[in-house]
Amino acid sequence: MKFSQFFIPTLREAPGDAAVASHALMLRAGMMRRLSNGLFAYLPLGLRSLRKLERIIREEMDATGALEVKPTVIVPGELWKESGRWDTMGEALLRVKNRLGGDFVVSPTAEEAVTSLVRDDLSSYRQLPLNLYQINTKYRDEVRPRYGVMRGREFIMKDAYSFHVDEASLNGTYQDMGRAYRRIFRRCGLSVIPVRADSGAMGGSGSEEFMVESEIGDNTLVLCKACDYAANVEKAACKPDFAPLSAAAKEAAAALPPVSRIDTPDVKSIAELCGFLKMDAGKFIKTLIYRASNIECGDAEARGFMSPEFFAVLIRGDLEVNEAKLAALVRAGEVCLADDADVVRLTGAPVGFAGPVGLSGLTIIADETVSAMSDAVTGALAGDAHYRNVAFGRDFTPDIVADIRTVVAGDRCPLCGGELYEKKGNELGHIFKLGYKYTKAMKVSFLDEDGKARTPIMGCYGIGLDRTLAAVIEEHHDEAGIVWPVSLAPFEALIVPVKYGGAAKDAADRLYTELAGLGVDTLLDDRSERAGVKFNDADLIGIPFRIVLGEKNLAAAPPLVELKRRDSGDVRLVELSRAAALIDEEINRRQV
Ligand SMILES: [Zn+2]
Repeated sequence: MKFSQFFIPTLREAPGDAAVASHALMLRAGMMRRLSNGLFAYLPLGLRSLRKLERIIREEMDATGALEVKPTVIVPGELWKESGRWDTMGEALLRVKNRLGGDFVVSPTAEEAVTSLVRDDLSSYRQLPLNLYQINTKYRDEVRPRYGVMRGREFIMKDAYSFHVDEASLNGTYQDMGRAYRRIFRRCGLSVIPVRADSGAMGGSGSEEFMVESEIGDNTLVLCKACDYAANVEKAACKPDFAPLSAAAKEAAAALPPVSRIDTPDVKSIAELCGFLKMDAGKFIKTLIYRASNIECGDAEARGFMSPEFFAVLIRGDLEVNEAKLAALVRAGEVCLADDADVVRLTGAPVGFAGPVGLSGLTIIADETVSAMSDAVTGALAGDAHYRNVAFGRDFTPDIVADIRTVVAGDRCPLCGGELYEKKGNELGHIFKLGYKYTKAMKVSFLDEDGKARTPIMGCYGIGLDRTLAAVIEEHHDEAGIVWPVSLAPFEALIVPVKYGGAAKDAADRLYTELAGLGVDTLLDDRSERAGVKFNDADLIGIPFRIVLGEKNLAAAPPLVELKRRDSGDVRLVELSRAAALIDEEINRRQV
């Protein structure tokens, strides 16, 4: 390919809104252009890298036996109503109507589409396991798209959905996917942190996220300094820093003087309360009223929640509630603190004075730390008043006790007790044991060996392609531009004749033909630009091998060329006649 015939509109400066390196470099190198907020179009150079990434993913998926399909991007709303997600997905789901008034969605993910695909033709256990994948356009109506393709509205995802007769079969495919993902990211030159959803102690993780460290990451990761424990803060656990109440402590609690009311005029915050009562925040039980939205499939009632919408949440005063854990616990799309008016209405007390003693009409959820509190202070459900001598189990009994605390740096590792620390990360991929959620809701069944109808169990496995490409640039760039790993470089070699004419032109053309003959993806800079401009563009678009043809070197006997590696910056003179073979050899050595 000749530079002059290609379309590489490089820019000296990145637009002002490009806050991260990958965004700025993808625009500057002429890989993509912004069409609108969160919408980006790939130009020929960017598309070449994207296609190479697709190829790597395809090869690794195919190697596991997964089968590629091509579902539609526009999917009937009916399917999403069947799964229940029409109601629970919220505003991120782009819903459209066709001319007949029918409901459709622009797929943000394809559990429904693929489950429906399988449902129609699945009859026997002999057809299972089945793992179907697609590499396709997706759309999420993000509130705040940013950082270029790192968090766009339209994006490309590889998503796979597997169907199995039982959990053992699902586990096998889940492990295969985990290994395939590690190979994919390794081939892209990425250092990913596999983050498990559980502690990893049981060996049966239900989900694993593949993260890259990133200052602009929208995930907080909790990692252990001593072992390889890594978890998303949304799921992270820590070694308990409390002891469950012993028999003696329970006895002591029973012997505790009864709850007594104390006047706490104008004491609003926990800090003020601690100062007023001269106690640690850890002696206080915070009571927060949460509002849950989009509770799954309207099953709040079935699970005995007193209000389908509001919950009272108790946590030790020195800790914070982890809203993701809480939402997962009550199976809600989202939870947030209730409005002041709702708090007053539900607790009968001003904001800041809620407490569990005597609280009725709300399901009470306590963090497990609260279960070890036998002599605590709480709000008294009345203005300017608190209770002391409050004992768990004696003065109040929560409906649910669970781990809903936010783990923070400095807490102890749940596996080894080592110190935990935090990092920001971006999720590139996710593998997940879905269970029966979709196959049950959408009534998928097969006949087992005994001719009995059964529901298949599912797994799903996603990788964001645009994000992965951006993450590769984040990890591989310098101040001059992108430093592509060979596997994803839009071209592997770039021939730069200082002047494209005379003997240099002949040599460049010959070298190009030779490299092409060896299967090396080569770009020839035939432009009549100054050498400096050509070199700057070469650094910016980051092609791994650059061969510079200058008059003086070509006039040597034998003729020489300058071979420069973009990653190390190493420059050496090699014989023109050997240049193609050398590059081919280095490329193949690197890709092993
Ligand atoms: Zn550890």
